This record gives sequence, structure tokens and C-alpha cells, in this order.
Amino acid sequence: MTAQLIKGTEIREQILDEIEKEVKEIKEKHNVVPGLVTILVGENPASVSYVSLKVKTAERLGYKEIQDNQPEDISEEDLLALIDKYNKDDSIHGILVQLPLPDHIDDKKILNAIDPDKDVDGFHPVNVGRLMIGGSEVKFPPCTPAGIQEMIVRAGVETSGAEVVVVGRSNIVGKPIAIMMCQKGKGANSTVTIVHTRTKDLEGHCKRADILIVAAGVPGLVKPEWIKKGACVIDVGVNRVGEKISEKTGKKVAILRGDVDFDAAKEIAGYITPVPGGVGPMTITMLMRNTLNSLKFRQGLM
Ligand code: NAD
Repeated sequence: MTAQLIKGTEIREQILDEIEKEVKEIKEKHNVVPGLVTILVGENPASVSYVSLKVKTAERLGYKEIQDNQPEDISEEDLLALIDKYNKDDSIHGILVQLPLPDHIDDKKILNAIDPDKDVDGFHPVNVGRLMIGGSEVKFPPCTPAGIQEMIVRAGVETSGAEVVVVGRSNIVGKPIAIMMCQKGKGANSTVTIVHTRTKDLEGHCKRADILIVAAGVPGLVKPEWIKKGACVIDVGVNRVGEKISEKTGKKVAILRGDVDFDAAKEIAGYITPVPGGVGPMTITMLMRNTLNSLKFRQGLM
């Protein structure tokens, strides 16, 4: 059996087209567009490239985009004042502070200063609480878990009553996706188990999964014999395992591997996400959707 590939690159294009269309309609009817500010402190190369991708995507969709780059030595007080300025700016619907921040700045203090109604990353404790309550309380589901759920739904995988096993319990992936999958509603209603480094029988739990979501950051952790025949396998892991020369650009690029032994797993699973090109492209896509939804909440359109 060869699994059906769930391609994040294709689903991203479908969703971005949907967002673009909606942005145009809202602009025509209400003369407003979603506004997103990205705040980058310092010049960490990975953060620079991540922010530039977000900016490019926002611009493609017709958003108002402010890229507010700040020097590495900005004080915590000045950064808080900047966030306060954007909290009060009615043309801004999403505020994004790129992590990591320099050591002299307290990440938590900064993220908690963002107005929860502009927290499109969904990391503010108010939004974590809303996610836990579920249903219409949820405003901004965190972007990677939201992307995972969207992929499962668009692939047509049945989630109601399904055994879902989540490998990993981080605040940005494992815990929120586990909560989302067990809520009432579309793409959910599952029976969820979270497994982690202290779990006694990792293999035994994984073998039971109709939907296996792996976010451990350990290349090849999930072996093919841990996968139930026909299961849906979502590999969130992105691990750099070496470097190669790109055929397209002639430049050195990282070799990326997921947490699942893909080549063997695809012969057993019913559905599987590749790495790269699986969950990865979904995160920024869902960030764009959260920003659009923020505008819609404000305009009373949702
Ligand atoms: P994390 O390090 O914060 O959490 C990893 C979790 O996996 C921990 O809860 C840990 O208990 C568990 N774990 C680690 N090793 C394990 C093992 N051997 N057995 C069982 N459990 C184990 O990582 P994270 O931020 O959740 O990210 C996980 C992976 O997903 C990373 O590879 C990261 O790069 C990737 N990621 C991808 C995206 C994306 O594609 N958009 C977004 C976020 C994270």
C-alpha cells in the first residue's frame, strides 16, 4: 500500500486563494484590509528569513503590512511601548513578535503585553484559555496546530471517534493540537492520548493510533512497525540532518528530515505528510487566516 500524500504546499495555495478572495470582497464592501505588524528584534538569520516569508505572504494577500525591525539592544521598556502603540492602532489587527528575543528581554512579559484580540499567534494566556474552552470561545487557534487540523479535514480523514495519538507535549504544538482534536466540532471529536519522553510504552500507544501526530523533534523516532495499517500520519518534525548543494540555486541548503521514517511509513500508512512540504507551509497560512479573522471579529463579520 502506498499512502496518499497530504501536501501542505498544495493546501496552502487553496487556502491563500480563499483568503485573497475574501480580502478583496471585504475591501470592496467595507473599505478595510487586514493589518499585520511583524516586530523583529536583532538580525538572527533564521528569524529574518521567517519574517520575510510572513511579510511576502501578507503582501501577496493585499494586507497592510508593517515590518517594524528593532535593534538587538532595544530595551524591554521600549519594546513594551511599541506593542502598546500597535495595540491602540485600529488599522492593525495582528501583532507578531518574532521569537527568540535577546536574553535581556523577558519573552513572556512581551507576549502577554499583546492585546489578546490582536494575538494572531494564539500564544497569549487568554487565547490558550479560549482554546481550552473550545467552540465559539476560540478566536486564534495557534497556527501550527490549526494547520495540522486543516490538513486532516481537507484530506477527508474521519476524526470523529478516531484514536488520536500525539507525540510531544510542547505549548506550541503537542498540547494545543491534543486539546483541539478532542473538542466537539468539525475535524475533532477524537479520543486523544498524549505521549512524551516519560511515556512507558511509546510504541504500544502509537500502534493504536488512527491518526498519529508526531511533534518530537527527533529524526526517524517513529518506526514503520509502530504505524497501524491505513493510519493518517502527520509528521510535524523538522530536523536538519546535514547539508547539500541545491540543484536549483547551486547554494548550500539544509537536508531536512521529519520525526517519522517516511520511506517505510508511506507503505503502511493510509495518509502521510512529507517533510519538507507537509505541515511546514501551513503555519504562515494559518497566521494569515487568523489575521483576516481578527479583522472580521472587529467588523462584526464573524
Ligand atoms: P519541543 O522540543 O518543544 O517539544 C518536543 C516534545 O516531544 C516534548 O514534549 C518531548 O517530551 C517530546 N519528545 C522528545 N523526544 C521524545 C522521545 N524520544 N519520545 C517521546 N517524546 C519525545 O518541540 P516543538 O516546538 O513541539 O517542535 C517539535 C518538532 O516540530 C520540531 O522538530 C520542530 O522543528 C517542529 N515544528 C515544526 C513546525 C512547522 O512545521 N511549522 C512548527 C513547530 C514545530
